[in-house]
Amino acid sequence: IFDEFTIKSLIRPVPGFPRDGVTFRDITPLYQSPRAVRMVTDSMIQRYVESPVTHIGAIDARGFLLGAVLAYELNKPLVLFRKAGKLPADCVSAAYSTEYGEARIEVHRDALTEGAQVLLVDDLIATGGTFLAAAQLVDQLGAQVYEAAAIIDLPDLGGSRLIQDAGIATFTLCAFE
Ligand code: IMP
Repeated sequence: IFDEFTIKSLIRPVPGFPRDGVTFRDITPLYQSPRAVRMVTDSMIQRYVESPVTHIGAIDARGFLLGAVLAYELNKPLVLFRKAGKLPADCVSAAYSTEYGEARIEVHRDALTEGAQVLLVDDLIATGGTFLAAAQLVDQLGAQVYEAAAIIDLPDLGGSRLIQDAGIATFTLCAFE
């Protein structure tokens, strides 16, 4: 059974990281608890097992942790959305701004085709820039985002709202105000 209190207690706030004024939400304690990892992944599996999702789109780097397990359990292809310069073959690329600055995300051009229904997965939604950039790439390849899923939402930063305003459903397991 999913226990939000347990999950939240395993996410460590780190004030002042990566810079003053920001409190980083650190999921490494959660990943050190097999029971908590099971709760998180089981909740997501339950949500998507009978969905029309065709691909898991995992976002660099902590999205890979959750994405890999979901792809395995749901028996779907895993598509990696990586920070610029990491993917070796022909890519599509999108620039975006984060809480901390400018960034660029890429995916292999042949990873998705028309008709794909992609579940985008990351650890956390802050300003929403990362998910929206990934969604832009999905769109550019003629595919569709089924939903954007993360463990944590930071609603005060407005990202989940922004993603929803762009017509993309979001799903998160807990929030920090
Ligand atoms: P956004 O693009 O502003 O929504 O930021 C989300 C991205 O930045 C995700 O890939 C997160 O992994 C990362 N991120 C931003 N803030 C945090 C945080 O407090 N903890 C962990 N990851 C974060």
